[in-house]
Order: sequence, then C-alpha cells, then structure tokens
Amino acid sequence: MAKLETRGLSVGYHGKPLMKEIQLSVLPGKILALIGPNGSGKTTILKTIIGSLEPMGGVVLLDGNDLNRLKRGERAKEMAAMMTGRTEVEHATCFEVVSVGRHQFTGISGRLSEADEKAVQEALEFVGAEGLSGAEFSKLSDGQKQRVLLARALAQEPEILILDEPTSFLDIGYKLAFADKLKRLAREKQIGVVLSLHEIELAKRIADECLCITREGKIDRMGKVEEILTPAYVEQLFNIEEGEFARTYENPAPSHYNQGHHDPVRSETEHVAPGDIETRSFEIIGEELSARNIVLPEDKAFLIKRAIHTTADFEYAKTLCFSGNAIGRMAELIRSGADIVTDTNMALSGINKKELAKYGGEVHCFMADEDVATEAKTRGVTRATVSMERAAKWKKPVIFAIGNAPTALLNLRAMYDNGTFRPEFIVGVPVGFVNVEISKERIMETDIPYIINRGRKGGSNVAAAICNAVLYEMKKGNL
Ligand code: ADP
Repeated sequence: MAKLETRGLSVGYHGKPLMKEIQLSVLPGKILALIGPNGSGKTTILKTIIGSLEPMGGVVLLDGNDLNRLKRGERAKEMAAMMTGRTEVEHATCFEVVSVGRHQFTGISGRLSEADEKAVQEALEFVGAEGLSGAEFSKLSDGQKQRVLLARALAQEPEILILDEPTSFLDIGYKLAFADKLKRLAREKQIGVVLSLHEIELAKRIADECLCITREGKIDRMGKVEEILTPAYVEQLFNIEEGEFARTYENPAPSHYNQGHHDPVRSETEHVAPGDIETRSFEIIGEELSARNIVLPEDKAFLIKRAIHTTADFEYAKTLCFSGNAIGRMAELIRSGADIVTDTNMALSGINKKELAKYGGEVHCFMADEDVATEAKTRGVTRATVSMERAAKWKKPVIFAIGNAPTALLNLRAMYDNGTFRPEFIVGVPVGFVNVEISKERIMETDIPYIINRGRKGGSNVAAAICNAVLYEMKKGNL
C-alpha cells in the first residue's frame, strides 16, 4: 500500500486553486521527484502535503488516513520535512538544531537520551556535517545550513520525508554524495520520499518516479524517471531550444586537452582547522568515492584512500594492484625490522622514518651515491640498476619502494629470473612513458609480493604514501 497518497487534491492560496486533481502516491522505500520550472507549484504541493497549507479540495492520505485528521504529534512521528525559506535560530549550535528533530522522542522536557544523541550524531554524519556539530548555526554558509536542516529532518526517523529543493545550495560533490546516500537510506529504512528538484540529471540518479508540472501549473506526466525524462521531453517542459539539453548534459562536447579537465570545483570555501585538514580530506574522498559508486575492498581502503589523498586522483581506486595478502606481508616485514630502499631521495624524505625506526628499520636511497654514478657510467647502465644490485646485497631484508625508475623494476625482475636475488617485497609505482607499464607487469608475473599501480601513473609521493599508509595502520594497531 502507498505510504503517502493524494486523491483529487487541489492546492492554492487565498481561495484560488493553483492546481486541481493532483493524484500522487509514494511506496515505502521509493523516491518521487516533482519536476517543473520555477513557479510551477512544486513547493505549494509539498506545503499542502505536510499540512502547512490547507487542501482546497481532496485529501492527503498517510497510510490510508486523512492527514488533516491526525494530530501534529502523530504527524511528526510519520513525516519529516525540509522546506525552502530561511530558518533563523539565534545562538544555537548545529547539534541543538538537529536535536529539535528528536522532540517527538524526548517529550516536552527536551532531554536527550543516549539513543537520541546517537541519532543526532548519525544524522549529522549522514550529511557530512559531523565537524559542524558545535558550530553556531546562524554563522554557517547556506550550503552548510541546508545540510544541517536535512540532518534535523533525518533525526526525526520519519517514514515519509518531504524535501523542497534539498540540494539547491549544495556543491556538486555533496549533491552527488547526498543523492546516492538518500537513495540507499530510503531503501534500507523503507522511507517514502517526495522531493522537488531543479536538476534533471540528479533527478534521474536519485528518483524512481517523477511528476512533471508545466510552467502553467498543469500536471503533465507521472511515471518512471527513465521513461519520462527524455531530453526531448525536458526541452519541451522547460521551453529549452531543441537539442540544447542533450548537447549540454547528455553528450557534452569532448573537451580539448589544452582546456585542462578538472573535477567540479566546490563552490564554498570551508573553514577547517589546520589539524583537521587531513580528516576533512579523507571525508571528501569517502564522499566522492560513494558518489562514483566505488566500493573499496575493506582491508585495502585505508591504503587506496591515502594514494588518492596524495594525488587527488581517483583512478588509483581502479589501478592499484595487490598480490595475495600483500599488506599483511609488508607489515610483517616492517615488524621484523626490514629496511626500505627507494629509487629517489624524494620518496626517502616522504617516508615516515620515525615510525619505521620503531621496528628497527631505516630508509635508504643509493641513487645519489657517487660510486653508484661512476659504476653506472662505466658499465653503461642506469643508476637505478646499480642501486638495485647494491640493495640485493644489503645486510637486511629489504622492501623496495620504487616511485620513479622502471629500470629498477626491470633489473629486479632480471635478478629474479637468473636466480641471483628474490626481493622480499616491491612497492612498484614508477611514473612515466618509457617502459613504465611493462616494468610493472613484469613484476606482477612473478611470485614476489607486491603493491603496484598498473599503468603510467605513480611517483615518489605515491611510493611514500603507500609505505606510510601501512606504517600508520600498524601504529593504530590494525595490522
Ligand atoms: P515552485 O516551487 O514550483 O517554484 P511555488 O509553489 O513556490 O512554485 O509557486 C507556485 C505559484 O504560487 C507561483 O505563481 C507563486 O507566485 C505562487 N505563490 C507562492 N506562494 C504564495 C503565497 N504565499 N501566496 C500567493 N501565491 C503564492
């Protein structure tokens, strides 16, 4: 049965109906989007559904019961709303604002139980605003306010959620993350959602069904988003020139390299304390991964996220490759006191030597040693080759962290092939165009334990980030 339904509903102001005969229904776990130009009447419908405007005819049914007959408290148990318009609260923290959503659970005393506090905290986390918990609401940006008000509606744990343009102030990162999270939440908790949206692309991503209203306030179509929101129909509904919507959103013109592709820029600056920047970065990475529908393997997520953190490149989520139990093996070697040998001084300086020293390990780079340079010149090989040979004779077990030279990897493979040396572990992330891809594949063909980034990308910073990820996870006691 529909969670929410309208039958023959008329809505409007001051005795004048704007729209008549509105029939809509939402099943538990489903999302219905109201789509239409500005002023078409979306907000008016939502206001009537939540009971802040009297219907001019017809009924709104909640679980089959006339909404107008329900007491306010009973309604709040079922339905939460976030509407447009200013919410002014003086001197309240965001935590306090979201706590208002718990009123139906706390009674008039307003005292929060442990469960209430947890619900508030979870709602803040859901909208990525846990960092704002203690901040004063009135001092937030519009986008931040919008997220906190969403959290307030969610804290109510409703069965029906009504959202009026919930993403209008959110930057693209939050929009996408919100869309995916809301969809999941609706499914998991079987919440029926009715929302108004401007963004057609977002509606397609988030909603199951849509109800389209024309500029003149006529309900035009209702049904599945993928069937209704075709480019041709969207152009007609919004009076857009033929082909313009499709050109812009469906098949955007290929960008030229010299235009510089970049991910969408966040539209607000954020106030983040210096000590919180890394935490916030990892939050953003988490949000954007879910917006891209990427689920990282649980045991490797910390390391992949650190590689993304270092490079701001989400491709690492797809290209980092691990031999069986690679991370466990690397931690074991570090714990037993292994040294790390790198092929650049840059990687050497990036690796956290203090953490490594706790287990008795050191980092070395032989590339700049004078005798290495001389030998390389005499033999006509690269310095990386000579460095690797030197490392092969090292007095202790060695983890190779290669961020630059494919010849280092090729040389390690050659020694492996002729039986003179088998490396204990290779972090193989050289970057570049000549022999870089093949050198990585050559290592992956062997039984040497490895963490390798397939393809051309990598670098000394990535090599250091991978070593540090394992060191930090060991420090936390997770490895
Ligand atoms: P939308 O949400 O689709 O942008 P609205 O529901 O806000 O549209 O507005 C629909 C129409 O109702 C508009 O013509 C608007 O001017 C009118 N309207 C909105 N609020 C009021 C009000 N309080 N009194 C009278 N008319 C209103």
